[in-house]
Amino acid sequence: MDRITRNSTFRKLILVAEDEIVNMMILGNILEQYEYDVIYAQNGIEAMKQIRDHRQILSMILLDLNMPKMSGYDVLRALKEDEDLSRIPTIVLTSENEAEVESLELGAVDFIPKPYSDGKVIAARVRRNIELAEDKQIIQNTQRDSVTGLYTREFFFQYVRQWDLYHRDMVMDCVVMNISHFHMINEVYGHETGDALLKLIGARIYENLELNGGIGCRSEADNFLLYIPRKADYRAAIREFSEMLNRQSPVSNVRLRIGIHPGVDETAGYARCFDKAARACMSIRNDYSVSTAWYDEQMHEKEIYSERLINDLDEAIESGQFKVCFQPKFDITREKPKLCSAEALIRWEHPELGYISPNTFIPLFENNGQIRKLDYFVWTKTARHISEWKKRYGTSVPVSVNVSRVDMFNPDLEKDLMSILHAWSLQPEDLILEVTESAYTDDSGRIIRIVENLRNAGFRIEMDDFGSGYSSLNMLTQLPVDALKMDKEFVRNMTKSMKDMKMVELMIDIGGFLSVPVVAEGVETQEQFDRLRKCGCDIIQGYYFSRPVTADGFERFLEEG
Ligand code: C2E
Ligand code: CA
Ligand code: CA
Repeated sequence: MDRITRNSTFRKLILVAEDEIVNMMILGNILEQYEYDVIYAQNGIEAMKQIRDHRQILSMILLDLNMPKMSGYDVLRALKEDEDLSRIPTIVLTSENEAEVESLELGAVDFIPKPYSDGKVIAARVRRNIELAEDKQIIQNTQRDSVTGLYTREFFFQYVRQWDLYHRDMVMDCVVMNISHFHMINEVYGHETGDALLKLIGARIYENLELNGGIGCRSEADNFLLYIPRKADYRAAIREFSEMLNRQSPVSNVRLRIGIHPGVDETAGYARCFDKAARACMSIRNDYSVSTAWYDEQMHEKEIYSERLINDLDEAIESGQFKVCFQPKFDITREKPKLCSAEALIRWEHPELGYISPNTFIPLFENNGQIRKLDYFVWTKTARHISEWKKRYGTSVPVSVNVSRVDMFNPDLEKDLMSILHAWSLQPEDLILEVTESAYTDDSGRIIRIVENLRNAGFRIEMDDFGSGYSSLNMLTQLPVDALKMDKEFVRNMTKSMKDMKMVELMIDIGGFLSVPVVAEGVETQEQFDRLRKCGCDIIQGYYFSRPVTADGFERFLEEG
């Protein structure tokens, strides 16, 4: 980039600030001869005005120290105070030798002795200093994040390494800091306000680093990486930092959270230690009561365990460690509850780790996409069982399977489901698809289209975990669903909390409004059952009737039903 500007024909602008007309003209002539554009000032005040007016395009200032009204020294001081103006290189014009040291200290980059000698030498000094200043600017632009002025991620890691070379005896921690719900701040207040907030945080971090040492950067969005001397009390530190921030913030009640990786693990390297700090920080993103999280032994163990599960998945599918269980659902709208359906639920019996809850492994496989494999496995097994039951009993009930949000992004989802049905001579009515409410709210337009297509193909859709996903009422009326399945937390708490009881009633009303049945799951007690029946719930699933049972165990319900 510098090559292009250097060789291009556009002329660079230089200010000559000099009160002696003869000197001014000599310099001006030399510079114009070497293809510079020149503007002039005859005292310090004029010089400052010219500098301010041309701040964006001025390549250099040639500054006489002795001028009326405002001396060259005062001009240098004024430039030094202004972040923007101080980047313009200034060469001092002087006949006094002693003046040199003081001007260099005040920020001058070089000096030209009076009386002026060879024009070639002067032009060469001017050119060289402009080039140096441009190079410095280019380096700073790539090193610094444009919003906060902190280092960029790439340079951050270089400086962290350097820091350690010079401060071997200091105990440092890797800290990742971000803002709770930053995307909401951007959405509600606009990106300019979001940027202003980031800038403010950048400035506070900068001050802190100046004061206490360390290196900081903004790695992306609202993520700040800090390599700082260990603090005795991070909780107090973040509290203090937040209070200071909130006094000036354009947004009220900004919540910060930090993840800390204590020290640096030499074998892992800096980047991985910061990744771990980031994961610690992530782990508290839904918990408003805490703002600090350590990457500790417990978290490390959990990650190792997760990695193990991820590695073992393929082998586990092949060697039959996964089983599918069935939990019956009963229609309670008539006097005597009647079996109407079942939910297929996966079970993992690991040969060394024992029984592993789906609540542990499903989120893992949703995160890395492997859930698709596992769901495909469950759908296939389920279809096989339904087909067998049909043969054996002449009839069966539809069975619902869980369709993860990740499956929704499989462009072949419908085709895959159809080919499974085809292989076992089943119809789409035989499978109910459970889609969690939060999948709808993630990317509603897209999910609605996909679900609509599935319904047109003949599948029925049950909205799972209803009430936990923040659908708006307005959105609900547009959603293509065939049943609402209340989140089991409401059922669990309905006999203890008035609010949850009200929520259950409300959800049943919504079902009535949409003309779809409402399913309650997690029903364990007689009291829950009675209340649900009384407020008009249609279908019930839970330990009250049965735990999830094996395919063989489920046959008893089919025989009775
Ligand atoms: P979910 O879809 O909400 O499934 C209902 C969960 O409630 C099941 O837990 C079930 O065993 C449990 N449950 C049923 N009745 C009762 C009761 O009366 N009391 C209590 N306390 N719990 C009851 P499970 O099987 O541990 O599954 C947990 C979650 O894992 C499921 O929540 C679902 O989100 C996911 N999951 C399970 N199997 C699959 C699968 O094949 N594919 C996908 N994508 N997710 C699955
Ligand atoms: Ca479910
Ligand atoms: Ca559920």
